Amino acid sequence: MKSIVSITSCADYSPETVKAAFERALTPFGELTFARPGARIVIKANLVSMMKPESAATTHPALLCELCRILIARGAQVTVGDSPGGLYTSAYVNAVYTGTGVRAVLETGAKLNQNFEHVHALNPGGKTLKELDYTSYLDDADAIIDFCKLKTHGMMGMSACVKNMFGCVPGVFKPEYHYKFPNHRAFADMLIDLNERFKPVLCVVDAVTGMEGNGPTAGTPRHIGALLVSDSPYACDRVCADIIGIEPEQVETIAAARERGLEPEAQLTGNPADFAVKDYELVRVRKELSFGVEAHGLFGKVFGRVAHAALCSVPKLTRSECVGCEKCYTVCPAHAIEMRSHRPVIDRSKCIRCFCCQEFCPKGAMKVKRPLIAKMLNR
Ligand code: SF4
Ligand code: SF4
Repeated sequence: MKSIVSITSCADYSPETVKAAFERALTPFGELTFARPGARIVIKANLVSMMKPESAATTHPALLCELCRILIARGAQVTVGDSPGGLYTSAYVNAVYTGTGVRAVLETGAKLNQNFEHVHALNPGGKTLKELDYTSYLDDADAIIDFCKLKTHGMMGMSACVKNMFGCVPGVFKPEYHYKFPNHRAFADMLIDLNERFKPVLCVVDAVTGMEGNGPTAGTPRHIGALLVSDSPYACDRVCADIIGIEPEQVETIAAARERGLEPEAQLTGNPADFAVKDYELVRVRKELSFGVEAHGLFGKVFGRVAHAALCSVPKLTRSECVGCEKCYTVCPAHAIEMRSHRPVIDRSKCIRCFCCQEFCPKGAMKVKRPLIAKMLNR
């Protein structure tokens, strides 16, 4: 079955531009039957951290407000929520609502989630995620909309629809999930299991201003000028990859979805090439290495370690930008970071390259470093 991916121009976040963009982008989806009168709809935004809309780390409030208006006009009850990295408490998440500007959705008649309980459940249909912890407000939804931001991502290469659903896991559990699924493919499969469990009825991508470089929180805003809507997170991510010029095989979630037969054929409305940014600054993530055969014995182990060190991207501190806040030390799921003289020191033998330290560094002092040999070999 084909999935629709609708791509339309949205030059900026002014209310008129956003309204017109949504009208065009939603046209291929007809009546939005899930938004019937009385339906409870959760919009799962990307509110990764307490960052202003201009930083391009979070879903822009102007877009969220317009989608809320559209759904409420059809009689639906709308709740906007997410679990940022860190504590999943009323105090912290409400501070994020304020800091990201999404509190504006209240003016449309939508609610902001105020249920900070979480649930543990079995997930027998999952490939890697056989049980999970998730934010319980999702259970109150008749339909979930995945509303992400198009960004680069230190660990996964790109953050868009599939990655956004990691916010279904309460922030305090996220490091544990990184530790449980340290391998990039296992982590991608876990993300896909989350998408399959919560099955968003619609995926919307804020690609008006994306984030390039040291994403997903410390990169640079980059104008793209597009709004995307799809009924498939996998088809939509494939188009997002084309827009920012990242090869699909560099995005583990795309590769994993393909292998599982989940990437449908896409029926495009609009032309991704019209929005392609040729020099988008990517994070080149080198995934786990495979040499086709398992390397055995002492030689194999030594060779594996040397090859790993020579080719795999790692987090690297820029000392001059570090303020010694210890956030990286706190979030590191592998306990690979030690603070020495108020600066983090990484034990490379323990590091699982989850890039949580890079994602949550408030100063962007932790960067993704690609080894010279990898650059030379273009790996
Ligand atoms: S989170 Fe960033 S600023 Fe804070 S100690 Fe770590 S590297 Fe330094
Ligand atoms: S040092 Fe950074 S990349 Fe390595 S395990 Fe810790 S948080 Fe993850």
